[in-house]
Amino acid sequence: AISISGLRKTFGDSVVLDGIDLTIQPGERIVIIGPSGTGKSTLLRCLNFLDAPDAGLIRIGDLEVEAARASKAEILALRRRTAFVFQNYALFANKTAAENIMEALITVQKQPRAEAEARAREILAETGLADKADAYPASLSGGQQQRVGIGRAMALGAELMLFDEPTSALDPEWVGEVLALMHKVAEERQTMLIVTHEMQFAREIADRVVFMEGGRIVEQGPPAQIFDAPQDPRTRAFLRRVG
Ligand code: ATP
Ligand code: MG
Repeated sequence: AISISGLRKTFGDSVVLDGIDLTIQPGERIVIIGPSGTGKSTLLRCLNFLDAPDAGLIRIGDLEVEAARASKAEILALRRRTAFVFQNYALFANKTAAENIMEALITVQKQPRAEAEARAREILAETGLADKADAYPASLSGGQQQRVGIGRAMALGAELMLFDEPTSALDPEWVGEVLALMHKVAEERQTMLIVTHEMQFAREIADRVVFMEGGRIVEQGPPAQIFDAPQDPRTRAFLRRVG
């Protein structure tokens, strides 16, 4: 299992994560919701040290990292066990779709080029982009670029996939195909931690919904409980605003 305990992060004198505790079972899909500026992205970023947490313990399988004294080797090990899907895709503009997926396989996983390329083409077929392997990002739609972004994360075979609002930069017409690909990833029992504002999608994909506000987890539970019978007034107020 994966567990996070007492995770804290401050920027200057503002406390952005104020002691986050969360345990994630293998294959579990957790969706994080909450108001803007509440620390959702920071939480995801702290899990692979894109932002360095100030304190707390992160456990992924047999890897245990104490945030305050994490070594370079531990941070690297944590990054190998997580894969991040960004809001703005973050693809290399000068690399083709296949090369974007191959990049981490070659540089991080040290796979031989031919093996990485075979894997990339296999993944592109799974994402429905077999015919776009040699296309550059600029010639792909937003939805196709994000499917490459998800494919890149899939290729890593990471224990935990982190999605930070993967559809919020997309034109509405491309949202559906990206959500469909995430459903496909979920069917493979991939452990997923997803930040999204797509409430209907959250209801469909989540085993558990976590509501965050002010750097803390306020309430969590199965989607039916959080969306239909929220207990905390802050959850209710948020859902009224977005609902
Ligand atoms: P949104 O829904 O708008 O994406 P969020 O819940 O993801 O919001 P975060 O991006 O985690 O929120 O930001 C939480 C707080 O931390 C915000 O007040 C933000 O301004 C602050 N913050 C985030 N990153 C930094 C940074 N690098 N330096 C300073 N402050 C930051
Ligand atoms: Mg965010």
